[in-house]
Amino acid sequence: MEKDFITLTIGVQKNIALIAHDGKKSELIQWCKDNEEILRCHFLCGTGTTARMITESTGLPVKGYNSGPLGGDQQIGAKIVEGKVDFVVFFSDPLTAAPHDPDVKALLRIAQVYDIPIANNRATADFMIHSSLMNESYDHRVINFSKSVADRAHTLPH
Ligand code: PGA
Repeated sequence: MEKDFITLTIGVQKNIALIAHDGKKSELIQWCKDNEEILRCHFLCGTGTTARMITESTGLPVKGYNSGPLGGDQQIGAKIVEGKVDFVVFFSDPLTAAPHDPDVKALLRIAQVYDIPIANNRATADFMIHSSLMNESYDHRVINFSKSVADRAHTLPH
């Protein structure tokens, strides 16, 4: 019988997504500068403007998706679902309303579903990036979606 959960592995080299709202971009850029040597060992991506600003300020290669308000957060969420993003640093701005708030919530939710480490402020990001797990691979348990689909298809009324 298929298991309810499957084990996925976050490799030694993490696939890190970097996102900052406008009011937090300078804070994230400074964090990237402070942690440049560590970040250089991993694969980096981010929402469009954030990615470009980090690359311009640090020289770190950051693959840019669309800008957040134009779907970038959703693209990163999709990469989590595909297993292609496994670590997120997202400095959201708690003091400013954003037009793409539903997308932000969706990204936080999907990171939770897939048990992805996600930092939404500098202290959490510091604790995460200085964890010994940054230099190890990490197995974690994620819902077995193929079993979930099969179960639901058989149990829901037709
Ligand atoms: P940006 O998007 O990096 O393109 O500014 C970030 C966001 O607002 O979610």
